[in-house]
Amino acid sequence: MNAEIVTSGTELLLGETTDTNSTYIARALRDIGVNLYYKTSVGDNVERMALVLRQALERSDVVITTGGLGPTVDDVTREAVAQATGRPLVLYPECLAQIESIFARWGRAVGANNRRQAFLPADALVIPNPVGTAPGFIVETDHGTLISLPGVPREMERLLQDGVLPYLRKRMGEARVIIKARVLRTVGLGESLIDERIDAEMRSSNPTVGLAAHYGMVDIRITARAADEAEADAMIADMEAQVRAAIDETAIFGVGSDKLEDVTARLLAAAGVKLAVIESATGGEVANMLRSTREGHAAVTSALVVDSPEALSAALDLSPAKLAAFGWISEMVAAEAAARLLDTYQGGWGLAVLGDVGLPDDVYGRDSGQTFVVLATPDATIVRRYPYGGGGFLARAWVRARALDIVRRQALVRLALATAPGLAAQG
Ligand code: ATP
Ligand code: MG
Repeated sequence: MNAEIVTSGTELLLGETTDTNSTYIARALRDIGVNLYYKTSVGDNVERMALVLRQALERSDVVITTGGLGPTVDDVTREAVAQATGRPLVLYPECLAQIESIFARWGRAVGANNRRQAFLPADALVIPNPVGTAPGFIVETDHGTLISLPGVPREMERLLQDGVLPYLRKRMGEARVIIKARVLRTVGLGESLIDERIDAEMRSSNPTVGLAAHYGMVDIRITARAADEAEADAMIADMEAQVRAAIDETAIFGVGSDKLEDVTARLLAAAGVKLAVIESATGGEVANMLRSTREGHAAVTSALVVDSPEALSAALDLSPAKLAAFGWISEMVAAEAAARLLDTYQGGWGLAVLGDVGLPDDVYGRDSGQTFVVLATPDATIVRRYPYGGGGFLARAWVRARALDIVRRQALVRLALATAPGLAAQG
């Protein structure tokens, strides 16, 4: 079954109201296995709305509208549906009775405008509205089915759950399928590299595999359509194994809504590692992200932010002459800073994120920035240079992701060492 959504309201087109109704309906349709192919927003204008509805009915089995069922002249949905389906608007006495009973509770008589809400296209199925005055309705035509719901999100949601979803489920009957998705979250691999590696998987039509990039991280979403949950899970597991085999699996830091900083903090806690951080490029953001969870808060013992060679030299007692000789943004100085943190905060690791990510408005300055990230541990020192610049925000986001990932990977190494037989005793 193919569906589309038409949201109405001039306020949506003016950018004054965010269209949350269509997102809500889209998720609900996804969950019961209805394909959604189009979403349209249209203003409060009868002719334009009728035109959109006619087009929608031509290409979709089910069209769901929200908004425009109120009592005022700018509420045009009933009239637009009447025009698009060629049905007259007729009085539904049971709807009028419902509106009258609401007004009776308020001690008021129903005015002419509220009576309008009881006029619906002929031969419609009424969806009663227990939380408002405007009933929803379903019009079945030869071309397709039109379903109209109120615009107020609370009312729309109620009518969708009580009336529309049961109706659609029943109509789909045995043909019913469910759609299930699983997201693998990766860090440090470029979107185009992943795209190349999983080219074959990305061409699969069920499950589908899609990518979404967010600043240094790429999500791989696997979506399966199946008769039931168990079948969907099996299809997803199969595809996940293929994807994992095709890319560098160690780049997958989590699934679903896992966050890199939370995963990293959990691993630090599990490995029993404390971390001291000094940052210039990212202005304390790496430490703050880690500290956003209880584990991370306990793991990060110290978080320093410096914005000049003088501040760096003062914070870690580094020789100003050396900073001047190598430049304070250099591999040498970052390595020394991380080593100094390791010495100073005994038993902890030292992470230095020292760099210059360029100016916020320098969007195209691809070569304008560079950052050295060094992680010093008792076992190893990891040194990376990232040439990210241009648009301070983007570059900082990329650097943060990379810095957290270095810590994450090293915590995994530490955990593997701790659990490897024979090595555990040496601690
Ligand atoms: P009413 O009886 O309140 O007039 P209605 O069915 O005519 O309801 P609208 O007038 O279009 O609906 O919208 C009512 C309110 O619902 C709007 O003020 C707006 O805040 C909200 N609304 C409408 N459409 C949407 C939407 N697509 N997403 C989120 N909110 C919406
Ligand atoms: Mg209205």
